[in-house]
Amino acid sequence: MTTTRPPTQRNGLQGSCTLVGAGPGDPELLTLRAVRAIESATVLLVDDLVSEAIVALAPRRARVVHVGKRGGCQSTPQAFIEKLMLMAVHEGETVVRLKGGDPFVFGRGGEEAEHLRAEGIAVEVVNGITAGLAGPTALGIPLTHREHAHGVLFITGHTQPGTSGPDWQQLAATVQHARLTLVIYMGMGSAARIQQALLTSLPASTPVAVIEHASQPRQRHAITTLDQLVDTIQCEGLGSPSIIVVGDVVRGTAAMAETARQPALHHAG
Ligand code: SAH
Repeated sequence: MTTTRPPTQRNGLQGSCTLVGAGPGDPELLTLRAVRAIESATVLLVDDLVSEAIVALAPRRARVVHVGKRGGCQSTPQAFIEKLMLMAVHEGETVVRLKGGDPFVFGRGGEEAEHLRAEGIAVEVVNGITAGLAGPTALGIPLTHREHAHGVLFITGHTQPGTSGPDWQQLAATVQHARLTLVIYMGMGSAARIQQALLTSLPASTPVAVIEHASQPRQRHAITTLDQLVDTIQCEGLGSPSIIVVGDVVRGTAAMAETARQPALHHAG
């Protein structure tokens, strides 16, 4: 989805802001629109999950600010990032806010766009391939399948402090009843709790895939079953960023066939 408005003007300077989805890491998965936006940026505010190969597409003269932990700021507070964006636009810069995956999927892109629009700034949003699509596709796992899944549910495993988060037991019942594929973002830290709750409705043998660093040279994955999820994560030393896919669509994929022949963990070539 893209919303285009005229650039902002202040003191004769024209600035603009584009929230750009950088996809899961492989530059080949960028949209043409994303590449064009990056190439015309004068200021780039870059999230941790954006790969260096993508940042390298920026013009040499552009100012690149890493606003994640990698940039040395202990995970820059959201309010500060929004302030930086606003200041740069007011200074007449062509600002590109580069976000991993899609800006509007668990990326706080909604909050950033709202904030800028409330300040009268025009915001363009460029879709990126979200990790929940790229991860399964990297293993040949279809998210829907006429025989296995009628739909797909993208959900976060991260619970905001002070909130209760999703009711995983209720969710498990819905997933089972409606035959949905479950795609879990940010679920590695709470995998034990999620596994336990899902097992209240889903069979222990439900196939699960964990895909780490999807689409990148360091991509790794494991195929397992729901009752073995946490053990597999621990044994294989899988960590963040990873996508967890739960459901029968994992069964019968090329990745599953390989697992039958080899140990659970595979390193992408
Ligand atoms: N906006 C992003 C999601 C940000 S939330 C998107 O649309 O993809 C961060 C979570 O996304 C991570 O904890 C992980 O669950 C997932 N993620 C992001 N990049 C990933 C990648 N390359 N491989 C696997 N998971 C990834």
